[in-house]
This record gives sequence, structure tokens and C-alpha cells, in this order.
Amino acid sequence: MDFELNKEETMFRDMAKEFGQKEVLPTVQEREREEKIPFEILKKLSSLGLTGLRIPPEYGGLGQTWSILGLVAEQLAYFDFCVAMALFGQISLVATPILKWGDEAQKKEYVPAVARGEKMGAHAVVEPNVGSDASSIETKAEKKGDGWVLNGNKTWITNATIADFVIVVAQTDKSKGTKGLAAFIIDRDTPGLSSTKIKHKLGLHTQDTGQLFFRDCFVPDSKRLGPVGDGIRVSFSGIEHTRFGLAITSVGVIQACIDACVKYSQERFQFGKPIGSFQLIQERIADMVVDCQAGRYLAYRVASLKDKGMPYSLETSIAKMFCTEAAVRAARQGIEIHGAYGYSDDFPVERYYRDMISNLLMGGTVNIQKLIIGGAVTGLRAIS
Ligand SMILES: Cc1cc2nc3c(=O)[nH]c(=O)nc-3n(C[C@H](O)[C@H](O)[C@H](O)COP(=O)(O)OP(=O)(O)OC[C@H]3O[C@@H](n4cnc5c(N)ncnc54)[C@H](O)[C@@H]3O)c2cc1C
Repeated sequence: MDFELNKEETMFRDMAKEFGQKEVLPTVQEREREEKIPFEILKKLSSLGLTGLRIPPEYGGLGQTWSILGLVAEQLAYFDFCVAMALFGQISLVATPILKWGDEAQKKEYVPAVARGEKMGAHAVVEPNVGSDASSIETKAEKKGDGWVLNGNKTWITNATIADFVIVVAQTDKSKGTKGLAAFIIDRDTPGLSSTKIKHKLGLHTQDTGQLFFRDCFVPDSKRLGPVGDGIRVSFSGIEHTRFGLAITSVGVIQACIDACVKYSQERFQFGKPIGSFQLIQERIADMVVDCQAGRYLAYRVASLKDKGMPYSLETSIAKMFCTEAAVRAARQGIEIHGAYGYSDDFPVERYYRDMISNLLMGGTVNIQKLIIGGAVTGLRAIS
């Protein structure tokens, strides 16, 4: 058992921390107010090679570990969760499924461009009538000549209106159920593909989220990602890694929340004393510290299992559930500790709260994580 970071891990963690301090923090409030996607910051992350952090060198990346990607994401999330997940999601949800399931031409076309930050992808599973139960996907893919014609709608898709290409899961034969599902890579300029932004979200104001519409959208068979029948597996090969990202970035946000609350409680005086000297305030901060430490080790454990090539599904759901719920608890307490000031964006805690609610949903809801954990320990699956 080793809880120490090695030299390289420490180096990347410190580099991300310094980057966050210099390049992310100064603009976070303005970007949040103006709902600006952090393109400039992503460009700078690319110039440091970080957008290719866990992409193999032969596809233009740095070939680093999940542990290092996690440490970098944790540090970036401390300053801005949207920046952290913009980086992590491109690797976990876009490049990784292509690396795992794509043929050489697909890997060469898309992965190096993602690693260099030249192209951005999206990953579209969820639909207006299809959320947790991905097996009931309604978007159709009908075989036509040497390709497929897609018709249907996807919603709540990260990067829907800005992605250069989308990984889409569609049904090729309803009678086959999940065995009929297939994944496709569809370029933005494909006729029949359009998108619209989802406005007025509670949080994630600097993340693009939207709907995608496929109307007689023809895609050649060469853009099919993985075999017909493996659409869900293609998708899960990205979603599980993303759950780890959501867990470890939640830890970064909890740490930011603790630091904001400690500072505020030392500086804010009531009844002639700093509020931090009151035991009831200390209790709230202590709860956050315990959650943060516990969540951090759950997430680091997942990273370690992944890097060792050991099974990590159960541990990922445990970490995702614990860390995302803990982040919402911390942010909610953070607002109360800041009193009325916590209810305005002059302090970051309200953003932590709004952003962290989304983490309860993305990558599978808390209930879905509970069903995965419950199914694993009882051997009885509530959902298939
Ligand atoms: C900001 C944001 C970004 C997103 N980005 C993407 C993306 O890039 N790509 C993508 O495909 N999707 C994306 N999503 C969608 C996300 O994956 C879904 O919101 C999530 O899977 C849940 O689906 P749903 O919202 O339709 O809820 P539903 O599945 O309708 O669930 C509603 C409620 O019922 C509960 N529930 C459902 N089934 C069960 C059950 N069997 N037992 C107990 N409770 C159950 C759920 O836990 C939840 O509480 C994003 C969502 C958000 C908020």
C-alpha cells in the first residue's frame, strides 16, 4: 500500500495547479457570467500537451497514466470544474472509445487531432425519451448501400453545438434490442445533422450542452465505430472512465470549497469573534474535510486499479457516487458558512453548488450507481 505520489505525478499535479492559478482562476467569474466556453484555456492546455495526456504517443499524446490525468483534472477542477471536465471528457469519452474500438483509419483521423486540441468531439447516447435506460435508444440507423441513414434526436449532449464530430449510438434493428445498437462517428458538416444549445441551465454555464438532430443523415459504413451489436459497449468504454473523472474533479471542488470556507470563517467576525471559532462552523468544515479525504482516496484507488489493469467498475461507481454527493454536501454547507454572501457570485461557493448538482446526473445518476453497487454485491441485477 503506497499513498505517496511519485515524482512524475507530483510534477504534473503541481504544473496543473500553477496553470489553474495563472490561467483559469483570473477569468472564471467573467466567463461564468458571460457563459463563455473556455476555448483559449483549452488551447493553452493543448500547447502543454495536456489535451493528449492519456493518449498514446503514436496518436499524438503524452501516453501518461489515468492517475496523472486524474491529478491534473483534480487540480483544474479546484479552479473551474468546466475546464477540468472539458479536458478530461475529450480523453475519456471521445478519444478512448475510438482508441479501443476504432480501426486504424478512424484512430488516425480523429485521435491525434483531439490530442493536439485541434478537434473536439461529443458523445451522444441520451435522447428525449431515453436516459438511464440506454438499451431503449430510439434513434434509428437503417442500412442503405455502403452506409447507414440516421434519424432521431439526442439531448443533453456535452459539446453538441461546438463539436467537430460526434460519437452517436443508434438502433439498427429494434427487434434485436441492445444487440441491434451500433456506434457511429459523424462529422459536424454531414448533411442532415443539426444542433441547438440548451439554455438556462442551473450550472455548468461555461460548458456547451445541447440537442442533436439527425434527419436522413447518411454516414458511410467506414464511420461505424465497433461492430453492430456493441453500441452500448462502445459507449460504456467511455462512460466508465468519465465516471472516474467526475469523481476526482468533485474532490477538487470539495477542496476548493474547504479552502474558501476556511478563509471566510477566519475573516468574518460575528459576536466579536471570527465565525471559524464557533464549534458549529468547525463541525461543518470538519465534515467537508473528512468527505474530501475519503473521496480523494476512493478516486485515487480507482486510478491505481485502472493503471494496474485490474477490474475497476465497482470501485468507479462507489467513488462516483460518494464524491459527487460529497461535493454537493460541501457546496451547500459552503453557502451557509458564507451567509448571504454565499448566495451571490462574489464568492465561488454558489458556483460549486450549481455545478456539482450536474455531477449527480452525468455519467449515470446516483440511483444508477447504487444499482450497480447493489447488483455487484448481491449478484442480483436490478437493471440490465
Ligand atoms: C450537464 C449535463 C451534461 C450531459 N452530457 C451528456 C453527454 O455528453 N452525452 C449523453 O449521452 N448524455 C449526457 N447527459 C445526460 C445524462 O447522462 C443523463 O441525464 C443521465 O444519464 C440520466 O438520464 P435522465 O436525465 O434522462 O434521467 P432518467 O433516466 O429519466 O431518470 C430520472 C430519475 O429516475 C431515476 N431512475 C431511473 N431509472 C431508475 C431505476 N431503474 N431505479 C431507480 N431509479 C431510477 C434516476 O436515477 C433519476 O433520479 C448530460 C446531462 C447533464 C445534466
